[in-house]
Amino acid sequence: MREATIDLAAIARNVETLTAAAHGARTMVIVKANAYGHGAVPVARAVVDVGADWLGVADLDEAHELRDAGIDAPVLAWLHDPEADFAAAVDRGVDIGVSYLEQLERVAACGSRAHVQLKVDTGLSRNGAARDDWAEFFETAAAHERAGRIVVRGVWSHLSNTNEDEDNAQAADFAEALAAASVAGLDPELVHLAATAGTLRVPAARFGLVRLGISTYGLSPFGDATSAGLGLTPAMELSASIASVKRVAAGSGVSYGYDYRTPAETTLALVPLGYADGIPRHASSRGPVSINGVTYRIAGRVAMDQIVVDVGDSEVSVGDRAVLFGDPAAGVPSADDWAEASDTINYEIVTRIGPRVKRRYLP
Ligand SMILES: *Cc1c(COP(=O)(O)O)cnc(C)c1O
Repeated sequence: MREATIDLAAIARNVETLTAAAHGARTMVIVKANAYGHGAVPVARAVVDVGADWLGVADLDEAHELRDAGIDAPVLAWLHDPEADFAAAVDRGVDIGVSYLEQLERVAACGSRAHVQLKVDTGLSRNGAARDDWAEFFETAAAHERAGRIVVRGVWSHLSNTNEDEDNAQAADFAEALAAASVAGLDPELVHLAATAGTLRVPAARFGLVRLGISTYGLSPFGDATSAGLGLTPAMELSASIASVKRVAAGSGVSYGYDYRTPAETTLALVPLGYADGIPRHASSRGPVSINGVTYRIAGRVAMDQIVVDVGDSEVSVGDRAVLFGDPAAGVPSADDWAEASDTINYEIVTRIGPRVKRRYLP
């Protein structure tokens, strides 16, 4: 059986640790992309239970999923389809992140009084109003607010995490945007800039609320700090039951292209997880797998549904568990180990775990 066990108690502890690190700022836990693969609804419930003030998602479909599940905590959604139905989301109490003037006009005209959070671009060059448009953006929002069409609840931006100087420069530009909002007559209740990295390492970026994504799941956004070093516990463990075991002769080719040939007579274990499940094919011959307390490397290529592990002369049986990653404190490989084996980041490792992998929740 393919399974991702999600430790909700670890998520709750991580949020408590991060809330302390936010130094009084309110917290928005980011549950976009199915809570980075962990399951949006169970994660949202767990974090709201331990006092997360807000939930953040990318798009309105993700916000509706939370509301459909009966979660009534404040929610912000910020990346919208050009055809997005703002009224339907506003009627369910979803705050709308607004990034440019035409979008602001659409939200103001949607027929329901939207709570909006105005995004400004202070770097990154992605979403958010460009500096040259700040004055008009804020003045237009203020006019709509005076007319009762919207409530401007927040002003916010996002850091590039390039280096300390760049992040501080963005924080300074953000302060200028706040001044421009104030000149336009806006007095937003929420002002926010920092995601996990800014929360932990850029004090000038904390403002009144911090947006916590990867750290909620117990993973570090930094190359130079582990989960444990930040006081966090990885919440996802990915494993599968070994589907078959066979003894093969020296020189046997393993998986497509025979990139691996057994150096000696050996035992091969077949693990039913492949790139369809989010295992990066790029980790072929490199990704670590722990079986009965021993960590091996994948033998040969990752296929769509399966990988093969050469366990040598170890005793391994059908039904034994193969753990790809989890909490390294438990002696298994980490999502960071997989990120390194795949030339990517831990965010991508957990987020790509596919729908065929059952999620099992530990309370
Ligand atoms: C994804 C995202 C976050 C969370 O970032 P982490 O590095 O995972 O903490 C915060 N804010 C915005 C706008 C995001 O898109």
